[in-house]
Amino acid sequence: MLERLNDPELGRKMLKLVREKAARAVDRLGRPAVLMEVCGTHTTAIARSGLRGLLKGLAELRSGPGCPVCVTAAGDIEAMIGLARIPGVTVATFGDMLRVPGRDSSLERERAAGARIKIVYSPADAVELAKNNPAGEVVFLGVGFETTAPLVALTIKQAADAGLDNFTVYAAHKIMPPALRSLLDSGDLNVDGLILPGHVCAVTGSEPFGFIGEDYGIPAVVAGFTLVDIIDAVNALLDKILLKDFRTGNNYRWVVKPEGNGEARRMLEDCFHTGDAAWRGLGMIKGSGLMIREELAAYDARNKFGLEASVVAEPPGCRCGELLRGLIVPTDCRLFGSRCTPTSPVGPCMVSSEGACAAYYRYERGEV
Ligand code: SF4
Repeated sequence: MLERLNDPELGRKMLKLVREKAARAVDRLGRPAVLMEVCGTHTTAIARSGLRGLLKGLAELRSGPGCPVCVTAAGDIEAMIGLARIPGVTVATFGDMLRVPGRDSSLERERAAGARIKIVYSPADAVELAKNNPAGEVVFLGVGFETTAPLVALTIKQAADAGLDNFTVYAAHKIMPPALRSLLDSGDLNVDGLILPGHVCAVTGSEPFGFIGEDYGIPAVVAGFTLVDIIDAVNALLDKILLKDFRTGNNYRWVVKPEGNGEARRMLEDCFHTGDAAWRGLGMIKGSGLMIREELAAYDARNKFGLEASVVAEPPGCRCGELLRGLIVPTDCRLFGSRCTPTSPVGPCMVSSEGACAAYYRYERGEV
């Protein structure tokens, strides 16, 4: 099966079927079905493939809060910039955090001004950095969903086992089910179906997303990451809309089990507890953050450096918040492509390659 997932001929056949079903859904709903993907990798794949244009007038594909960099609250960005300004601290981060604009700076600007900021490719690299620099403090910026958090948990455990006393994590990890519940509770989310993130579900399982259909009567489908996977998920959602079947489906069964990955979940539970977390555009969401457990407080940068995320206003004119709630598309922002571009981003959705504005700008600008 796997070798067929990038088969263009199969994709074309599936697309024809999907367009026919979408037309039937238009008849049923009286308008194109609105389907939201909540995964930055899906956002990029949809933009790159041109699928949105191929379904124009039949189904609308809209992005939600699926890009980890984009949903990191402005207050957390300020705290991270604050960390970089502490003498003796080296901030270790994934590269896409560097250019996220803060109130009056960014990690990139702090680095240009002399701050010690290292780009790492895994949290384990940050632990190595700490081992090799015993005289300095290394803080890893923990950003991401259930997909990346188990690796961070593992490195905290490794640092604890090694007795490292100069390594900490600024934990800004988020979990997806409470965010979707909050969005659905807000009443703003006028979508007919949700494409669920396969990587997140590989850890959590599909079961934690069953509430979407049970409590809100909206179908959802777990999807993999090739174009054929995404077309397959759209097809399954249209079937569910036409049949009024609101059970959460799993179209990524060879990776996602209903109960998820037990080992990764245990790793998360050993290291983190859930707590309220601020999301950009979505505000404070109950139980949506992963906080480092009390017994591992020595590895918690908030604890060690006394940093608290403050509430900070979004950049003036930036509509990332509305975008992350699925209320607008990137081109509805009047800064898109003029004052806000990937080389000069105003908001985080134009920074990360998984951000909707960056994906639109790169792949769909000519079509809008
Ligand atoms: S175009 Fe730029 S300013 Fe507008 S919503 Fe996107 S990131 Fe924010």
